[in-house]
Amino acid sequence: MTLSAKAMAYDRWSPPPRDPDDDTPRLECGVFGVFDVEAASGLTALGLHALQHRGQEACGIACFDGQRFHTERHMGHVGDAFGGGDLNERLPGQSAIGHTRYSTAGGSFIRNVQPMFADLEAGGIALAHNGNLTNFLTLREQLVAQGAIFQSTSDSEVILHLIARSRKAKFVERFIDALQQIEGGYALVALTNKKLIGVRDPLGIRPLVLGDLDGKAVLASETCALDMVGARFVRDVEHGEMVVIDQDGVQSLRPFPAMQARPCIFEYVYFARPDSVVNGRSVYEVRKRMGRRLAQETPADVDVVVPVPDSGVPAALGFAQEAGLPFEMGIIRNHYVGRTFIEPTQGQRELGVRMKLSPNRSVLAGKRVLLVDDSIVRGTNSVRVVRMVREAGAKEVHLRSASPPIQWPDYYGIDMPDREKLLAANHSVEEIAKILNVDSMGYLSVDGLYWAMEAARDPANPQFTDHYFTGDYPTRLLDREIAEGRNQAVERQLSFLVDA
Ligand code: AMP
Repeated sequence: MTLSAKAMAYDRWSPPPRDPDDDTPRLECGVFGVFDVEAASGLTALGLHALQHRGQEACGIACFDGQRFHTERHMGHVGDAFGGGDLNERLPGQSAIGHTRYSTAGGSFIRNVQPMFADLEAGGIALAHNGNLTNFLTLREQLVAQGAIFQSTSDSEVILHLIARSRKAKFVERFIDALQQIEGGYALVALTNKKLIGVRDPLGIRPLVLGDLDGKAVLASETCALDMVGARFVRDVEHGEMVVIDQDGVQSLRPFPAMQARPCIFEYVYFARPDSVVNGRSVYEVRKRMGRRLAQETPADVDVVVPVPDSGVPAALGFAQEAGLPFEMGIIRNHYVGRTFIEPTQGQRELGVRMKLSPNRSVLAGKRVLLVDDSIVRGTNSVRVVRMVREAGAKEVHLRSASPPIQWPDYYGIDMPDREKLLAANHSVEEIAKILNVDSMGYLSVDGLYWAMEAARDPANPQFTDHYFTGDYPTRLLDREIAEGRNQAVERQLSFLVDA
């Protein structure tokens, strides 16, 4: 079979292609919602600002003013889109939901930006979604075959279609009808003319919390957004729970069969903000413990521990404290790198990392340096950082990853490259040390990660989903299975043609 024929066969069922030079892994999304408060859009903008780390590509707010819905969706950062003083005039009302986004399903154009809005028989509904549906393509195909017209390529729109088509009488029942057809990891917030609704997938893969702002309910992906708006943390929305908030208060529904929760362990490794408390655990404390355990598992004879900022900072601190070594900011991060800054010429592409990270020579020159990063995905960032630290005069460079080797892609809303591009899926630790040009390389063990989480690791009764490191996916992956089946069928046909 020719390579291009094979590539075409796979392409039909893969996500849209990316700029091949764009090595940045993608973030997922953040959601926020408030009900029955003054200046709901302004509060939502603040909440989204605190969730900016969960998606920097686009953002949107939908609100209801008692009569009408209003929606604004923009490419870019929350501050640029919603920082203006006239926000509550542009988007008036007492209830609102918002979304920050980096696409994990669907392309990057404005049609895919959320919240998505639909005018249903029963009234309007705005929906914001963090996560990824693993049976999205299958459902979409079925809906299209039945005559549905899609405005976007985002998996969230499927949920709106399923609600619209439900034959149940009441809105909440229709929503539940839709939820019972979707699979995957998700946290949803939805706004109707009467209600704010929050839903967490049956395993609680994606996070969602409930807060209280002077007696009014707030929903957010992370507690840092509650802190931002001055709301009190009430509790996590539980796995498989639907909270329905209206003038009568907060009602809790359980639309799914009861299951053991399996929240995503990568929220602690990389995604969540360190000042957030996710599923009852401080992200900062877990990351520091990851560093402590890393120091026990992979010690090194070095002069200084240096974090790869920002995400490597808590783990590097834990490592340094455990090992009794100095912790120094040997790399300084520039926080003002705009998304739109184009590197002047192709040849200067390597400057990319320096625009974001700069060596602090006074810390690095002549030293045996131990770098700590939170995780290594493709290794692109590590190659550049190690080179930069060597060029700044480090005598030795040792690298530690505060997460175990990432060997499996994610299908629940965290953007990761395919297995072929995951460094640790294709190389041994010794090979990785050579590729990254480090004097020694070390990863946290999976047991060590559980130790940091203060959780028992029992693969027979898992408490988290750790598929990145183990390949143990917590749900079936219907689209993937169908795509593989189709690709194999196409391959068989093509090889038959080639053989003939
Ligand atoms: P890489 O250069 O592909 O090895 O990416 C590793 C760097 O990206 C680390 O510094 C991580 O902090 C960060 N990272 C890890 N996972 C993700 C992700 N899914 N999205 C964005 N950045 C990530």
